[in-house]
Amino acid sequence: MAKNDPPRIAVLGAGPIGLEAALYAKTLKLPVTIYERGRIGEHLHRWGHVRLFSPFGMNSTSLGRAAIKIDFPKHEFPGEADCITGREHITAYIDPLARTDVLKDCIRTDARITAIGRRGYLKEDGIGDAKRGAQPFRILVRDNNKEKLEEADVILDCTGTYSQHRWLGDGGIPAVGEGNCEKEIVYHLDDILGVRRSFYAGKTVLIVGGGYSAATTACNLATLAEEQTDTWITWLCRSAGSQPIKRLPNDTLKERDRLAMRANMLATRGDGGVEYHPQSVIDELEYGGPDKGFAVTARVAGKPKTFQADRLVANIGSTPDTSLYRELQIHECYASLGPMALAAALLKHGSADCLAIPTQGPAALKNPEPNFYILGSKSYGRNSNFLLRNGFEQVREVFSLIMGKADLDLYKKK
Ligand SMILES: Cc1cc2nc3c(=O)[nH]c(=O)nc-3n(C[C@H](O)[C@H](O)[C@H](O)COP(=O)(O)OP(=O)(O)OC[C@H]3O[C@@H](n4cnc5c(N)ncnc54)[C@H](O)[C@@H]3O)c2cc1C
Repeated sequence: MAKNDPPRIAVLGAGPIGLEAALYAKTLKLPVTIYERGRIGEHLHRWGHVRLFSPFGMNSTSLGRAAIKIDFPKHEFPGEADCITGREHITAYIDPLARTDVLKDCIRTDARITAIGRRGYLKEDGIGDAKRGAQPFRILVRDNNKEKLEEADVILDCTGTYSQHRWLGDGGIPAVGEGNCEKEIVYHLDDILGVRRSFYAGKTVLIVGGGYSAATTACNLATLAEEQTDTWITWLCRSAGSQPIKRLPNDTLKERDRLAMRANMLATRGDGGVEYHPQSVIDELEYGGPDKGFAVTARVAGKPKTFQADRLVANIGSTPDTSLYRELQIHECYASLGPMALAAALLKHGSADCLAIPTQGPAALKNPEPNFYILGSKSYGRNSNFLLRNGFEQVREVFSLIMGKADLDLYKKK
């Protein structure tokens, strides 16, 4: 890059935050490429049947809506307070945004980033040396199955976490046998009441997990069991207590509270064919083929117990892919795997509701590696408290750093 050239920005991932970051960069007239390994909004497509807890007004920005309106003046947005599904959000916002003149030519789909390095510098070289930051990043891209090398001056890693599942075994490692039958286990949020109905109808399903994803699965299976009464659900959760989901007092996100309430009712009353076992940890699993299904050996309140199931759904959370930047100087949190400064700032908020957690300021986005930033849900690592609203704020903050203008704010009302 010549001295006065604007920095070339590489955005990794065309999820909601990658697209927003690219839009912000283009509005500032910076050269941008978005690399997306799947489709635009790939992860949203995968859980597209699920309703977002936060309303549309919180999941979109003034900048994005204005860009869409310029190219598609007749486009109608959902109401600010509407809670729509992931799929509806793609139609209402993500796809039109990606098709705007400002963004359409800078997005490359089927382009997977596999590794990133710094030209001329190994991980251990040039610690704190400004010369390291003056060298471009080297980006290895698998583009339509062909490997290529590209360069950028600034990297915004917005690759999310959704497609990297965690493991079922006690202590977070794979349960004995899990590696052998990984492909048979459903780790994501399946469309139980839609395209995957016949996979679950009339089956015995074992759900493992204690968060909102497991709650969604349990509620959808219970709805299915109302029609297909031979559907049976066993729900295993690590935590103690009679209710799997902690409800937040006066939760303003009504969709979320409704889900927690229904899931807790199913677990405690045994309604909807749900049998709930708290204090359960998994030791071993065996898959005997489509006819025999799974035998899952667990400890329930310390006592060994084996469960038989046709289907196994492991909604146990996801984890960031940190292998992309193994050769860079990224300070990772030893607990969350998020970038350290942000993770430390988030730690102060403990188990507070995500709505109550403010953005942590531009300094929290910095890494020892100059001009490399992790944004969006990946920036929270294993902490599942991320909200799109906070991601949009990160975008504003990161460009104030890149442009060296603390008060830069393209969202500010004029
Ligand atoms: C079921 C569910 C419901 C949610 N509901 C809400 C809600 O109501 N409100 C809210 O604010 N948040 C919600 N979230 C949290 C969060 O806002 C979403 O996860 C959101 O999709 C995060 O956006 P993102 O852009 O950071 O990452 P993602 O949407 O995860 O996008 C990452 C993109 O990067 C791509 N990618 C990954 N690896 C590579 C690679 N190596 N090379 C190139 N591309 C790559 C992926 O294909 C994907 O398209 C929810 C999350 C889930 C899972």
